[in-house]
Amino acid sequence: MSEAFERLKQREQALMCRTYSRYPLSIVRGKGSRLWDVDGKEYIDLLSGIAVIGVGHGNEEIAEVMAEQARKLVHVSNLFYQEEQLDYAEKLLSTSHASRVFFCNSGAESNEAAIKMARRYQRAVKGRDAWEVITLENCFHGRTLATLAATGKHTEGFEPETPGFGRVKWGDLDALERAIKPTTAAVLFESIQGEGGVFPISQEYADGVTQLCRDKGVLLMCDEVQAGMGRSGKWWGYQNFGLKPDVFTSAKAMANGLPLGALHATEEVAQGFDYGSHATTFGGGALVTAVGLKVLEIMERDRLVERAAEVGERARARFRELGERLPGTISDVRGLGLIIGVELALEPEKCRKVWSTLMERGFILNLAYGKTLRLLPPLNIPEADLEAFTETLEDVLRSIA
Ligand SMILES: *Cc1c(COP(=O)(O)O)cnc(C)c1O
Repeated sequence: MSEAFERLKQREQALMCRTYSRYPLSIVRGKGSRLWDVDGKEYIDLLSGIAVIGVGHGNEEIAEVMAEQARKLVHVSNLFYQEEQLDYAEKLLSTSHASRVFFCNSGAESNEAAIKMARRYQRAVKGRDAWEVITLENCFHGRTLATLAATGKHTEGFEPETPGFGRVKWGDLDALERAIKPTTAAVLFESIQGEGGVFPISQEYADGVTQLCRDKGVLLMCDEVQAGMGRSGKWWGYQNFGLKPDVFTSAKAMANGLPLGALHATEEVAQGFDYGSHATTFGGGALVTAVGLKVLEIMERDRLVERAAEVGERARARFRELGERLPGTISDVRGLGLIIGVELALEPEKCRKVWSTLMERGFILNLAYGKTLRLLPPLNIPEADLEAFTETLEDVLRSIA
């Protein structure tokens, strides 16, 4: 490691709360699908800041809008009507069946809003004292106290756990049916589990959940924070399964790196919120929504959603071929569009070695659950970058496996 990097590392250790075990890298610049570290080394970015930089680093059109809006108006608060917010809301709502949005600043906040809306809808509109939200094992919904309880992990030391959440086995409809009680307000799940290692739900599960929710008056809520915004090859992951959730949430890629999250609801369930029910100071300000609108325009013009489906399908085919060429190295290739999991069939320390060697060789990606290489590249990544990655992965697997 260089002296420049070591200095940064030491300052981080002295100044920051000890919450992150960071990758041994400091990134200083990005362009498209490329990143450069503090020593000038170039990388291909297959992580996009965890599914955030959908239309690429250093995007000129985004930078232009950002600069222009920054000079015009950044923030006035939600006490005012803002045209930027409405222009964005209109465009955003055209991507789904939802008819109302609430803007916030992160994935966890969008899920908090969804949980609040579900509880209040059941009570104020349906007259049911139902508050419990059922989630699926291995899920991730955020790190605030309520979304932690929804997630059911990372809770140690933060007790008492926020009540009102229960978890059932992923993909098990019988377990879900048994778990639904008169006090159940909603089921919340990721159409494609991201942090959990890239697991899309099955069509059978999608159909079954819909049936159960409809039969029992329970709201169907999808967390699209990671798989949404075109990454799955549809605007929203659940659209791959023909679902029509009452509420869904989004965040990560909405404003290409600026903090923006949203709750999207049907007209019916949006009645759960009334004037004064929920609020945020920053949520959906003029700057972030102007940028969000540009993101949607770029995605539409460049057909990035359709492209994600096509490019992702070809990438998965290449990984499967690689697995056949090198038996015993790859145990599964999963995903939809450009959310891809390549599960390695190797010992934990070898998986880590594969991942760290890939990074040394210029590819930034994530290792989920210690064994799944998770790819979340920018949606406009050149296909040659993905081909280069497959070649390097083959090389690395040959030397390490
Ligand atoms: C990242 C993520 C969240 C949390 O988003 P934050 O912006 O970190 O609060 C919630 N749900 C899913 C599916 C995510 O991937």
